[in-house]
Amino acid sequence: MKKIGLTTTVPIEVLIAAGYEPVDLNNIFITSKDYGKYIDIAEQAGFPKSLCAWIKGIYGVCIEEGIQEVVGVVGGDCSNTKALVEVLNMKGIKIHPFSFPHKRTLEDVKREITVFMKQFNVSLEAAENVRRSLAPIRTLAKEIDRLTFEENKASGFENHLYQVSLSDCNGDRLAFKEELQNAIQTIKKREPLKQKLRLAYIGVPPMTADIYAFAEQHHAAFVYNEVQREFAFPRADQAIDLFRQYYDYTYPYDIHFRMEEIKKQIQLREIDAVIHYTQAFCYRAVEDIALKEQLGVPMLHIEGDKLNTLDARTKLRLEAFLDMLLDLKEGRA
Ligand code: SF4
Repeated sequence: MKKIGLTTTVPIEVLIAAGYEPVDLNNIFITSKDYGKYIDIAEQAGFPKSLCAWIKGIYGVCIEEGIQEVVGVVGGDCSNTKALVEVLNMKGIKIHPFSFPHKRTLEDVKREITVFMKQFNVSLEAAENVRRSLAPIRTLAKEIDRLTFEENKASGFENHLYQVSLSDCNGDRLAFKEELQNAIQTIKKREPLKQKLRLAYIGVPPMTADIYAFAEQHHAAFVYNEVQREFAFPRADQAIDLFRQYYDYTYPYDIHFRMEEIKKQIQLREIDAVIHYTQAFCYRAVEDIALKEQLGVPMLHIEGDKLNTLDARTKLRLEAFLDMLLDLKEGRA
């Protein structure tokens, strides 16, 4: 199967129906032991220091790994991607644009996905067949999520890892399905984790995945990973078609719809506090203002840049925040 790179979550059902193997470029970047080299490649090519590391990482991956085709999400995700795909196109990489509509209406979502299907010469029926074939994988990811917040057996990192991987099913759907099944079997046999604080992680998936272990060292567990969960489409089983599945995806549209789902999950998962992660130089940091005002639970905003581990200042802030929450919770008890 021919590989096609993704800059973020897109309707992979269409790409698989067109005979492609989708590969999430973010995952290649961040799981590489030598992830910094991808950033260096971009900076040597002229990408500014003051630009989000994900964009530079994606560029480096495309160049270094010989990616020939990319689906670039030029609407509803990130304006930096627009400039990125223009540069990639100049380098000879074939770009297939996709846009999430700014206004979240079913009509607009239908229009964009229909344009996308036409680009790849894929019928709705063929895309729906793939959607059905992906349903068992989505159900398994949902089970891992349930094992995190209901049974307290899956760790925050496992929750993050398995759900974020749904953006491309790790490039091999059968192997990924088996991996999820094995993980569920192992997790179910464990005793529940006994952490005193229940946290929500909201915002783009972290560059600094050690945040999960760090929280655990301070008596806290992440029992909700907002965007990673959206990548896994946990409500896909309630969507009657492909259009509605992507209409019900919270991340690319306005913040109000996204906020409603976060609030619902905060209640359901009995969340004590929220960590809002944003990437340095990302416009999404501004959303912190609205989130802080509306979510109604303590919230800490942290920012990652090029490092894939938490820096000392962020660790200090997290530690102080978690200590304060623990005092409050134990004081109340
Ligand atoms: S973190 Fe922000 S700036 Fe970076 S790719 Fe994502 S949306 Fe764009």
